[in-house]
Amino acid sequence: MHSCRDYTGLEEFRVLRDEFRARQIPCLEHYPAIELLTEGARVTGAVLWNLETGDYKIVRAKAIIIATGGYGRLHIRGFPTTNHYGATFDGVVLAYRAGAKLRDIDAVQYHPTGAAYPIQIVGYLLTEKLRGSGAQPVNADGEAFVYPLEPRDVEAASIIRECYVRNKGIITPTGLRGVWLDTPLIEIKNGKGYIEKAFPGMIRMYKRYDIDIRKDPVLVFPTLHYQNGGIETDSDGRTNVEGLWVAGEVSGGVHGKNRLMGNSTLDCLVFGRKAGMSTADYVKSQKGERKIALDHLKHYVQKLQQAGVKETRRAPIILPDYRGKAALARMIDVF
Ligand SMILES: Cc1cc2nc3c(=O)[nH]c(=O)nc-3n(C[C@H](O)[C@H](O)[C@H](O)COP(=O)(O)OP(=O)(O)OC[C@H]3O[C@@H](n4cnc5c(N)ncnc54)[C@H](O)[C@@H]3O)c2cc1C
Repeated sequence: MHSCRDYTGLEEFRVLRDEFRARQIPCLEHYPAIELLTEGARVTGAVLWNLETGDYKIVRAKAIIIATGGYGRLHIRGFPTTNHYGATFDGVVLAYRAGAKLRDIDAVQYHPTGAAYPIQIVGYLLTEKLRGSGAQPVNADGEAFVYPLEPRDVEAASIIRECYVRNKGIITPTGLRGVWLDTPLIEIKNGKGYIEKAFPGMIRMYKRYDIDIRKDPVLVFPTLHYQNGGIETDSDGRTNVEGLWVAGEVSGGVHGKNRLMGNSTLDCLVFGRKAGMSTADYVKSQKGERKIALDHLKHYVQKLQQAGVKETRRAPIILPDYRGKAALARMIDVF
């Protein structure tokens, strides 16, 4: 595993953005894809939608790689999430309508230690490295009820059980439940000054709310973290739809139904590169103009009607809507 203190994602993003600028790679910002375009059974482009002006843009393409990330913002079973606001399952929706096969979509990964308090950061990730460095989950009676270095599924299940089956959780002032993560233990094990050096991001996140993780334990509860399954591919990221590849968290199969911690970036880099190389080869072999149409969408709607499925929800979601009572209700209790 490769990390940059506890700012790894930020650093990865900075490098990627620099590459875009240095190589002058064309990029449309604030223009999410809302539908694929097809000619018969192959994809030939996409419809983009400008978030600011509401304008549509058509992009023609010989091949498409979908890399839209995961689905934490669907808040499955009402759980909070570590994911950014764009993690709304869009890529899977677009690909599915165009006929792509999916796999292991039921397999959700919970990160064991999401923040449970204060309300402003509920669901934010408290890195596993905290437990790796000696922090211990503790229940309302001060008992260490689980070994801190279990795999994510076991650790998360133990915390949920402690809160909702054994009723040994702590009810936070906002009505959520959680257990303590005893972070001060880290410096007992590793010496004074260790937390500040190893976890500057965590210190800063909690300092805003007057909580010093070097002195006080923090309240945690599992949070939606990763979409284990996704769009089915071969080992080059190619889907069953001609002209369509996928890479990253939106793809299914690399991790089966249960990813181990720390290897998603590796997956993105290895299979992203393979998908890029495979797509480039395909594009070179393709000649001539293609039609762009929405026939696959008409077919999809017909199938829904035949099956008696009523469409009530908008998809792709693009960005979640947190306004109103529904959003507040979701924050009060997860079960
Ligand atoms: C807090 C946190 C910590 C993590 N820590 C680690 C770690 O230490 N090690 C590790 O290996 N993994 C880690 N992961 C997991 C890993 O970061 C993700 O799985 C990985 O970044 C996914 O990359 P991606 O490129 O597939 O998707 P993303 O990085 O999510 O990028 C997808 C992009 O697509 C955009 N998008 C979405 N819908 C559309 C649309 N319709 N049209 C156009 N664009 C769209 C999104 O806005 C986003 O910019 C962590 C995840 C989180 C949330």
